[in-house]
Amino acid sequence: MVIAEQRILRGDREAECGRLERAVVAADAQLGLLKLQLEGRHSGEGQDLIEAHRLMLRSPEMAGEARRLITDECLTAEWAVSRALVHIRSIFAQLDDAYFRERGGDFEVVGERLLRVLLGLPELRPGAAAPSGAIAVGVDISPLDPFHLHRAEIAGMVSESGGPTSHAAIVARAFGMPYVVGVGELSSKVRPGAMLIVDGTHGEVIVDPDQDVLRAYQLRVDDLRQRAKLLEATRALPAMTSDGVRIHLAANVETVAGISTALSAGAEAIGLFRTEFLYLERADFPSEQEQYADAVSALQNAGGVPVTFRTLDLGGDKLPLAMKIPTGPNPALGVRSVRFLLRHPEILRRQLRALYRAASVGPLRFMFPLVSGVGELKQLRAICDEVRAELRNDQIVHDPTTALGVMIETPSAVLTADHLARRCDFLSVGTNDLMQYTFAADRENEAVAHLYQPLHPAILRTLKSLAGIAHTAGVPISICGDMAGDPFLSWILIGLGFRELSMDPDRIPLVKAVIRGSSLAEAEALTAEALELETQAEVSVLLEARVGLRFASELEGFRPRTPNVVREEPVGTGARDERGRQVPHHN
Ligand code: PEP
Ligand code: MG
Repeated sequence: MVIAEQRILRGDREAECGRLERAVVAADAQLGLLKLQLEGRHSGEGQDLIEAHRLMLRSPEMAGEARRLITDECLTAEWAVSRALVHIRSIFAQLDDAYFRERGGDFEVVGERLLRVLLGLPELRPGAAAPSGAIAVGVDISPLDPFHLHRAEIAGMVSESGGPTSHAAIVARAFGMPYVVGVGELSSKVRPGAMLIVDGTHGEVIVDPDQDVLRAYQLRVDDLRQRAKLLEATRALPAMTSDGVRIHLAANVETVAGISTALSAGAEAIGLFRTEFLYLERADFPSEQEQYADAVSALQNAGGVPVTFRTLDLGGDKLPLAMKIPTGPNPALGVRSVRFLLRHPEILRRQLRALYRAASVGPLRFMFPLVSGVGELKQLRAICDEVRAELRNDQIVHDPTTALGVMIETPSAVLTADHLARRCDFLSVGTNDLMQYTFAADRENEAVAHLYQPLHPAILRTLKSLAGIAHTAGVPISICGDMAGDPFLSWILIGLGFRELSMDPDRIPLVKAVIRGSSLAEAEALTAEALELETQAEVSVLLEARVGLRFASELEGFRPRTPNVVREEPVGTGARDERGRQVPHHN
């Protein structure tokens, strides 16, 4: 950042010090907000770093020295800060210890933040300073980071913490960004400026690959693109098994713009619109009118295709800036989703009013996440009744017949699914959370990522039971967790009785290819065998032998999420995610 060398009049020194102080307060507030965003996430390192930055900001070396330069030498606040930075740089450059020398970079970042405030420039977001095509490497990546990083044209991400079904991973996939999570001791293995290959499919990060490895990956990238093109040709074809059973493939989206991508991939519906992502970054909660406008534009983008909105699923790792949600010692088990909405019914009411109104514009239905049983559902339904009555009394156009669904994401919902099914219009199984709570394994914690086991007998039995309950109750049921989009699992899911699957848009062509190349009869036979097995590993072997072999060419380059292979190659990693893509590393 180039700062003009300007001086002020002696009489203006006090005012200039005041300007500096206000900028320090504003920069500190930015850091405070960032810290709030990180709160409740299990890596405390991000928060510690922010606290360190706040201390640096107000330190004698930074704000103190700048104030001295304004007072003693009549410099402008900007020039004073940049002179203070020159001094700090010279001190750090003399240090013998490489680790401490590098900490000087933190002062640079803090100084730049302060300078941007003084110059009236917008706050730098993650990735904004990195060149296009760079890789973001971090300890902890929040669900919001992929939005910023995508905007900054960052090509991929790697983090020490996180699981493959963490919300950051879900958003990264929606943007087609390769992301490898759970890479231990990243900072000691990756230095800024290194070349990195981020192979999201196999969960591998290769540091400074040689020419042969680079060439091999370039070929893989070309091959994957070629395959994607071929699969695009199936866009208009129905997902129908060879024995004539129709499976409906829908898409999960986080943004209104994502709907067009979903339709291009062949989505027949939007099976899950994660509405909270539209509002996480705001300092306030959206008004009814804004939510109405967003829902209407989603419906317009969908062009007549049905859209299932999920009511705000806040808490856990998705913390809005608008309000501090008391997460408690274990955020995933704390005030999340409908628990939060029931504590703040005014927020729920606003969204429900918007949704009931938008439903009069196009095919819309909505569902509640993380419902634990009929007690909660009754409370939620009572609020829906009141909202509809209000809209009717106020003569506001709305659709009182809007279908209301329940997400099955907790073991208590599974065990009471028959009751829930009688009291709603449809069910949708959120297998990401359902697995988190069934295995008692935090989906954000890389140390237990191996317990994401969609083929574990507990999950197979659970899904079988849910499909049966929905069938008996005559209520439609879908799966919208990540496992719905894993083509290796398609036989199992249709074999268990599911006919609606909602997934990341880019998985639709693959899943469709598998379904069109299979009969329900063989899927059911395999499922019956799988249900006899005792471990996820055994079921995986069975699937590899049937589905893996049959679709070897379609699934080339795509590996199932299980079993969770940990490789020891250059940087070993845990879980995998997304397509492989070779990209340079810059930050
Ligand atoms: C799920 O839990 O499976 C789900 C679809 O919701 P989310 O991933 O947003 O929690
Ligand atoms: Mg969920």
